[in-house]
Amino acid sequence: MKRNRWLPLLGISLLTLSLTPQISKAFDDNGSQSAQSIWRIGSFPVESFQGYTSAFGYRSSPTGGYSSEFHSGLDIASPVGGRIRAWWTGRVIEVSDNTACGTSVRVQSGSWVHVYCHMMGSVSRDSQGRYASDGESGLKVYEGQQIQAGQVIGRVGMTGRTTGPHLHWTLKYAGKLVDPALVLQAMYTAERQTGYISSQP
Ligand SMILES: [Zn+2]
Repeated sequence: MKRNRWLPLLGISLLTLSLTPQISKAFDDNGSQSAQSIWRIGSFPVESFQGYTSAFGYRSSPTGGYSSEFHSGLDIASPVGGRIRAWWTGRVIEVSDNTACGTSVRVQSGSWVHVYCHMMGSVSRDSQGRYASDGESGLKVYEGQQIQAGQVIGRVGMTGRTTGPHLHWTLKYAGKLVDPALVLQAMYTAERQTGYISSQP
C-alpha cells in the first residue's frame, strides 16, 4: 500500500514555521527510535489534497470586526468524499457529531491526540458501541477501536461549522496544542533525509 503522498508537504513551506524548544522535545520524546525513522511512520491525513486553506494560530475573524480568534488546527481542503487516513497508529478515544467540529474522530497515540473534524456522516450506536460512519460506504469507526497509521477512518465532508469541504486537523501533545504544520514538516524532513521521496515518486 502506498500510504503517504508527499506532494502536499511541499506546500507546507508556504506556512510560517518555527520550531520551539518545547515542540522539538515533543518530537524527541516520540518513541525510542531516532527521530528520522519515527517520523517516517506517520501518514498524511488527506488523500485528495487541494491545498492548505487556514493555518494554525490566531487569525482575523471570518465574520469581520476587530476580534481575532485562535484556530486550533490546520485546514486541508479536499473534495467531499475524499478519504481521511489516520496520521498515526493508536486508539479511537471519542467519536462526536454535536459540536462545531462536526462529525469527528479523536485518536490517541501515546502522548499524542489527533482529531479529524467536519467528516461526512454521523455518530450512531449499535451493540458494539458508539461509532462514526461516513453514511455512504458503510465504513464504521468505533470508540475504543485500534487503528493503524494510514488506515481510512472517514471521508471529508461539511459537518459542523465550515463553509467548504475540508479536514480540520488538530494535534495535541501531552495536552497542549501543536501546530500540525510542524509535524508535517518533520515528516517531510525525515522522508527527505532517508531518500524515500526520490526513490518512490
Ligand atoms: Zn479549521
